[in-house]
Amino acid sequence: MNILQEFDTITAIATPIGTGGVGVIRTSGDKSFDIIEKIFTKKNLEAGRISHGWIVDGGKKIDEVIILPFKAPNSYTGEDVIEIHCHGGINVVRNILDLVLKHGARTAERGEFTKRAFLNKKMDLSQAEAVADLIHAKTRNFARQSAKNLSGVLGEKIKEIRTDIFNVLSKIIAGIDFPEDVAEPEYPYIISEFEKSLNKIDKILAGAKSSDILRQGVKIAIVGRPNVGKSSLFNTLLNVERAIVTDIAGTTRDVLKENLDWDIAITLIDTAGIRESEDVGKVEEIGIEYSKQSAEDADLVLFMYDIAAGMTDEDKTILNLIKDKKHIVIANKIDLLPESKSAASGGEILISTKTGAGIEDLKAKIKEIVYNFSPDEMEFVTNKRQQDCLEKCRENLKLALLAAQNRELQDLISIDLKSALLYLDEITGEVITDEILNNIFDHFCIGK
Ligand code: GDP
Repeated sequence: MNILQEFDTITAIATPIGTGGVGVIRTSGDKSFDIIEKIFTKKNLEAGRISHGWIVDGGKKIDEVIILPFKAPNSYTGEDVIEIHCHGGINVVRNILDLVLKHGARTAERGEFTKRAFLNKKMDLSQAEAVADLIHAKTRNFARQSAKNLSGVLGEKIKEIRTDIFNVLSKIIAGIDFPEDVAEPEYPYIISEFEKSLNKIDKILAGAKSSDILRQGVKIAIVGRPNVGKSSLFNTLLNVERAIVTDIAGTTRDVLKENLDWDIAITLIDTAGIRESEDVGKVEEIGIEYSKQSAEDADLVLFMYDIAAGMTDEDKTILNLIKDKKHIVIANKIDLLPESKSAASGGEILISTKTGAGIEDLKAKIKEIVYNFSPDEMEFVTNKRQQDCLEKCRENLKLALLAAQNRELQDLISIDLKSALLYLDEITGEVITDEILNNIFDHFCIGK
């Protein structure tokens, strides 16, 4: 079956809907060239040659554009593709899209261009997933990692493991099918091959945690009683005057959240949120409650107290609440201390948000705690789906290893091996269900 014949012609705006220098409308499918012939001033477009002219609707000029024509299979989707590069205004782009639709294309679904690229074997599933990762990357680092996956490194690694397992399976099957001609493989050989593959899988899975941190980022909450300097630290880390800072305790009214791009995505949560109240006991209660709530949700808690005021009972209550979470104790306002007293003690980080003292040490400590790996040294990233498949492959391979160690019938070993292979094929998309496909491509944007 020629899969290219199955698809109709789809179109979508590939650039964000907004005002910009250029807008791109992409069309993919058999009718792409016919459609452009009807709405473009130049005729007989040649694949790979840029063409300059006007998009026209009957006699009316719509926009001056550049056309990029691609012929199947040498295109992103593997089909005939036309890209119209027009001026980047919301309505001019929509006018051109309407015209393409009027001449026989239909609106593409989410991720349909990339789905076609996958179905037409222009990329494997790990690469298609990398496309979405690249587009949605919250940090530049994660974008760089996704680009590695897009180049196919994860898919290659999986295929390498698959080939190793498949080679053993072929030898086992040959021994079973042709017992007179082919000797079944020796158990020590089978065992050592399985161990090698398990090692490779373990190595990929060992990077799973780092992958998750790079992908999702981490949440950091700043907690402490009012007026110790939480909002000031929030601003210092953010480098903006976003949270309101005053001398009156409790002016940060709501929990503030901001994102930082520090190699990994960091969501910083400032928790002050205390309402002014006549009742001192009530204020403390609310402060403690806010600290508790924000800390619960955070991957790391920055507990702050005012070193000039010393650690109060309220400080101790808050510290006690978060002590079982990953945390850093920060002593702020060291600028108010005589110089002789501002030495580090007991693992606390001494800072002054006023002078900037200790901020770099704090940043280094945060990085050390939340990601003690170097993103640049990672070969590739994995997502939850891929990790689950690898775990299941690993389970089956372990069963096969155990069976080999117990010298069980090789027929039995082959059953576990086949299951292990299926899970690897699910990663690259060699074996795939509609449900998995839809799940992946539903997370794409229209036009990709
Ligand atoms: P929050 O209620 O914990 O968020 O505290 P703020 O960040 O609003 O700070 C309360 C007060 O302490 C403000 O007047 C800040 O200017 C002051 N403050 C914050 N950090 C420092 C510091 O390092 N040194 C000194 N001297 N004052 C600070």
